[in-house]
Amino acid sequence: MSVKFTGGCLCGAVRYETEAQPLFTGNCHCTDCQRASGGPYTPAMFFPAATLKITGSTKSFRSIADSGNYFDRHFCPTCGTQVFGKLQMLPDAIGLRAGTLDDTSLYTPTVDFFVASAAHWDFMNPKLPKFANAPPVTR
Ligand SMILES: [Zn+2]
Ligand SMILES: [Zn+2]
Repeated sequence: MSVKFTGGCLCGAVRYETEAQPLFTGNCHCTDCQRASGGPYTPAMFFPAATLKITGSTKSFRSIADSGNYFDRHFCPTCGTQVFGKLQMLPDAIGLRAGTLDDTSLYTPTVDFFVASAAHWDFMNPKLPKFANAPPVTR
């Protein structure tokens, strides 16, 4: 049975859907994600870009990671919700933020990464593999 992932921003102007399976899922604890989200980490689900149908327009902000690669965070210009991101390292993929899913129970993180910069109040699932910096998928 194929699972359909649907979701969008707080005001509803930006929506997405895909029936593909994620290429990669995980929680990013880097300092940029903490600052951009105001929370402890970004729960990310990367899908092949071609499988995603995104409606509504977004604005984006580009930050440069310690690696020198950029990351574009796309957000709804009306409500400010960060909906997805695009990594320079994964040009054919889009990372949806799992908190924007209509059914957030569909998100299953497989790894924690950039845990070296995690906040001390950031509780992590001890069963998940941990990477101090970038996860293997972007190497
Ligand atoms: Zn919105
Ligand atoms: Zn991050």
